[in-house]
Parts: sequence; C-alpha cells; structure tokens
Amino acid sequence: MRKQIRGLLLCAVVLAGCGGKAAKPVEPVTPEATPTAAVEATPSPTREATPEVTPEVPLRPTSSLTSEATPTVAPTAAPTATPTVAPTVAPTVAPTATPTAAPTVAPTATPTVAPTAAPTAAPTATPVVHETAPGTNIVHKVSEAAPWIVIDAGHQSKADSEREPVGPGAAETKAKVSSGTQGKWTGVSEYALNLEISLRLRDALLLEGYNVIMIRETNEVNISNAERATIANEAQADVFIRIHADGSDNPAAQGMMTICPTPKNVYCKEIYEESRRLSDCVLRQMVAKTGAKSRKVWETDTMSGINWCQVPVTIVEMGFMSNKEEDYLLQDAQYQEKIVQGILEGIQEYLGR
Ligand SMILES: [Zn+2]
Repeated sequence: MRKQIRGLLLCAVVLAGCGGKAAKPVEPVTPEATPTAAVEATPSPTREATPEVTPEVPLRPTSSLTSEATPTVAPTAAPTATPTVAPTVAPTVAPTATPTAAPTVAPTATPTVAPTAAPTAAPTATPVVHETAPGTNIVHKVSEAAPWIVIDAGHQSKADSEREPVGPGAAETKAKVSSGTQGKWTGVSEYALNLEISLRLRDALLLEGYNVIMIRETNEVNISNAERATIANEAQADVFIRIHADGSDNPAAQGMMTICPTPKNVYCKEIYEESRRLSDCVLRQMVAKTGAKSRKVWETDTMSGINWCQVPVTIVEMGFMSNKEEDYLLQDAQYQEKIVQGILEGIQEYLGR
C-alpha cells in the first residue's frame, strides 16, 4: 500500500523493547557464512572451479577405467618389449593416463576446499562476518581504527503489527515494523529498494575503509524499529544511517529529506546536535550528487526508530515512489550510485574525513 508522509513516519518509527547499552556483543555468535559472504564468495569460487572442472570431467568418465589400468601395464610391458613397441605404446597410454589421474584428484579437492576458504579470505574488505539471526546484524569489520557505520535498510517483506514502546520507558506504543510504501509506477516495494541501496552503500563504505554493520541483508527478516536502534547502540555506531523512500497521495510530491530528533526529544535529546549535523551533511551531499529537490531536514520525535537511539542517527528519505519521475529514477542503477555517493560524502563530511 502506498503511504503518505504520515505513512513514512510509521515506517521509520515503530520500535520494540530493547534499550540498554552494551558492549558490542550483539554481533558475535555465528562467525559462519553470511548472506554477504555468500553472495560475494559464491561467484568467485564458482567461476574458478567451473572452468577447471568442466573440461576435465568429460575426460574422466571416458578414460578412467581404461587409462588407469593401462598405465600400470604399459610401463611394465614397454621396457620388456622391443624398443620399437615402447614408443608406440608410451605416447598412446601416457596422455590418456595423465589426465585421468589429475582430474580424479583435482575436481574433488578444488570445490571442497575453495568454497570453504574463500568466504574467509577472498572478500577483500570483509574480514569478519557475524550475525545474530539469518541475514541480520551482519558485521563487516575492516579495521580497529575505522569508524563504525550501521546501515538500516528500512522495513522488511512482512510487517509485524505487534506493538512496542515508542521510546525507552514510553507508555505509548506503535507497531514494531511495517513493510513500507511501494512504487506507484514500478510496483517495486520500498523494503526491496531500501535494501538495494543499502547494499550499494555498504560496498562503497567498505571500499573507503569503514567498518559496516548491516541491520539486514535480506528482506525476509523480522526486526522491530527499536531492535534496529539497539543494534546501532550496542555497536556504539559513529553513524547510524536508516534508508527509506517516501510515498504520497500527491503525485507531484518529490525530493529528498533527512530526519532527526528535536532538541526536546524526551528519549534522546543528547543525540540531537550530532544527528542534526549528520542529517544536514547527508542531505546536502545527496542533493549535490543527484540534482534532486532538497526538501528539508525534518526534526521529529514521532519515530520510534530514532527515539530508541543513543548514537548519531539520520533517516534518509531518498525520494517519492509515488512520483513517476522519481519512482523510475530510484530504480536506475546510475541514479542509485549517485545517491550512495552522496550519502557516503555526507558521512565523510560529518566525520571530517
Ligand atoms: Zn520507509
């Protein structure tokens, strides 16, 4: 369903109980393969393995039995027989035997070893990958010294209408998380667009040497807005970027906006100044890169995903999925890169890097 600005509020807002601050424990548990690792790793091992295996496989079945037996006999027979025979036999047998032996070992070993090792070593910028639940809270640690950027791809494929306090200790509650708006022209779901941009932003940040934590790297998750904020809090994020897109009943509505708390927020006024500055930097750079209309930095205390924050946060509203031009632009790879570069430069400016 399409939503208006009011709808956006809903999307960004809703949170569940999770408050306290902690070390950085959320991430640890499963250091195995994650969506990210999988995605990045899969292509390379496959690419490398396929060419080697494919050509050799056909040889194996055809010659294996024959050749394996033959070579053993051949050498024995060759010397015994006449020198004239040797050359004739040798060449014929040798080639057949060699390929057989090699392939038998190679294919078996390569695929088994490669995939396992690749995810850990191959990905240049993602040495460490942890997660607390499949596809969630994924840690990409580049270095001890680098700032930590937490990216929240807004929404998820299925809304969770269960309720949670709008802020720490709040009596008022809101639905935990919604599925967001939808492209009026493209039909694309906001949660899918948000993830696409977030993954691009992750890659851009890793390339610049930042540590990145992804709240989610798949659409099939269930993480409330409060839980998302808590992940950023526990990571002691230097920057918490929440990626969203707008929707409105007014098809003419367009442009970009960033959102932060007000100086009077009863839950998190301590983060107001930094969040405002972050929101200013990101909006300015995004608009500069894309040429989109700049709406404003919206200061509001209606977002539970912000109220639960204890770290500098901004919600990025990339454009209107209800506006024909922007709906299509938001699906354009080059435009997406401009948005990402804008956010990246906004973060750089905010951090003074
Ligand atoms: Zn949204």
